[in-house]
Amino acid sequence: MTNKDLANVIFPDITMTIEDYEKMYPGRELKEGAKVTRFAPSPTGYLHLGGFFQAIIDYNLAKKTGGVFYLRIEDTDQKREVSDATALIMKTLEHYHIMPNEYEHDDKIIGSYGPYVQSERKEIYHAFIKYLIEIGRAYPCFCSAETLNAIRENQEKKKERTGYYGRYSTCRNLSPEEAIRKIEAGEPYVLRFKSEGDFERKFWFDDLSKGKLYLNENDQDVVIMKSDNLLPTYHFAHVVDDHLMHTTHVVRGEEWLSSVPLHIELFRAFGFKPPKYIHTPLILKQEGDIKRKISKRKDPEASMSYYIEQGYPVEAVIEALMTIANSNYEEWHTANPDKNFMDFEFSPKKMSSSGALFDLEKLNNISKNVISKMDKETLYRYSYEWSKLYSKELQDIIEKDPEYYKSIINIEREQKKPRKDYETYGTILKSIWYMYDELFVGNLSYDFKNITDEKEISIILKTYMDKYFDETDDKDIWFQKIKLLCDELGYASDMKAYKENPENYKGNITDITTVIRVALTTSSMTPDLYELLKLIGKERTEDRFAKFYC
Ligand code: GLU
Repeated sequence: MTNKDLANVIFPDITMTIEDYEKMYPGRELKEGAKVTRFAPSPTGYLHLGGFFQAIIDYNLAKKTGGVFYLRIEDTDQKREVSDATALIMKTLEHYHIMPNEYEHDDKIIGSYGPYVQSERKEIYHAFIKYLIEIGRAYPCFCSAETLNAIRENQEKKKERTGYYGRYSTCRNLSPEEAIRKIEAGEPYVLRFKSEGDFERKFWFDDLSKGKLYLNENDQDVVIMKSDNLLPTYHFAHVVDDHLMHTTHVVRGEEWLSSVPLHIELFRAFGFKPPKYIHTPLILKQEGDIKRKISKRKDPEASMSYYIEQGYPVEAVIEALMTIANSNYEEWHTANPDKNFMDFEFSPKKMSSSGALFDLEKLNNISKNVISKMDKETLYRYSYEWSKLYSKELQDIIEKDPEYYKSIINIEREQKKPRKDYETYGTILKSIWYMYDELFVGNLSYDFKNITDEKEISIILKTYMDKYFDETDDKDIWFQKIKLLCDELGYASDMKAYKENPENYKGNITDITTVIRVALTTSSMTPDLYELLKLIGKERTEDRFAKFYC
């Protein structure tokens, strides 16, 4: 009996060969230098920031070179699978405008290299494993969990490397006859790769980000197919898929770096050229003095849904990630403020190799900046769309009077140095609530700063309202009138004069505008007071002031 017989006993129905599949999936016709990248998440119902980070790098690399970016769902570990997980992944990619060219979703396969869901590729994997069995590079292993535990304990006791390799991999020595006899007797088994590597030998591996690494060869006979669902493990499946889908660049987390020797050996066993690899650093978070891995369990911001729910603009999240992807991104973006991340030449070499710090404070600053540069119609549209999904309160406010809302968010916008008030769509209401009478109720707290005397506050507001307030004034006239009010009440309208002789005055123009501002809004830090007064209008302003008349 031969290995071929063994292969036929294990996969009696598999008739397709590797050559057949290679004909089915011929090389892509792309121009020289075009990169083919993929985002290959497991459908766990959660899209981690780290995975998304890889996806934007994939997208950038493929699009900039006229290549292809595709989505592959890696669901071979079906215990972890969650239904609708693909929908969440697609929704997120769509939201961030990084749609793959090829994918599978809603029973539709877009692209000629599918299926793009691993569990639908079972037969393809079986053909490839069958070939490895035929050439003596894969074999069934009948060792039970107890036997494997005993091997490990023994290795630990002797302080040896653990695993199924060398003299410990006893099943590799079974003859095809013995293996067939055990299979026919119904003994359970898994399929293992038969390594030819020597752990004592080293080889050079060129990671496009980390540079040349001197790694030990693989000598582990790893499991390539489990017995429960007859699906291959990640190691094996990605080799087959990246080969047949003609991936040129694999961008993945550095937790896979230690598996590189195995992956390279698997590609070589088939005589395939491995793709180029870019291993991305862990995404870290600063906590006090320490930097730690951003964690799915502890940090809401580890999930991509966080940014959507909070209302961060798309560009802000991408920009924050690009600043950690490439150290020179920020400088480039400051020099080219009107360009976006797709104009940037990403360089794997410039990626930090020791962990990338993702700072929410920094994201907030970027986001404030991005929002401040939107014109009012754009901000209106985005914030309204967001509110419909995540904030009934904002939605109601906007729908009641869209034009009023637009005028509010337009204050100090559409100018050279726009005001940076809002971090997210979710914080807009926190900044503008006082513009709405229905929210301007309850126990409001006022702090008039330097002026504390109730009588004085009343005089300022009343005099202003009775003698100087006129909705039709332009800004210059409005300001002249504020100055007249100061002069009338004994406050300095000219700061220079005030600084020279403060004792001549009760206070200065800022004290006056603070009283007006606080009575109008409760806040001493607001956008342009002239604009606020104009929008709130005489009648509502008077109502707000009247609370302080005595
Ligand atoms: N499915 C793997 C993961 O989610 C992807 C690794 C890769 O991109 O090759 O970690």
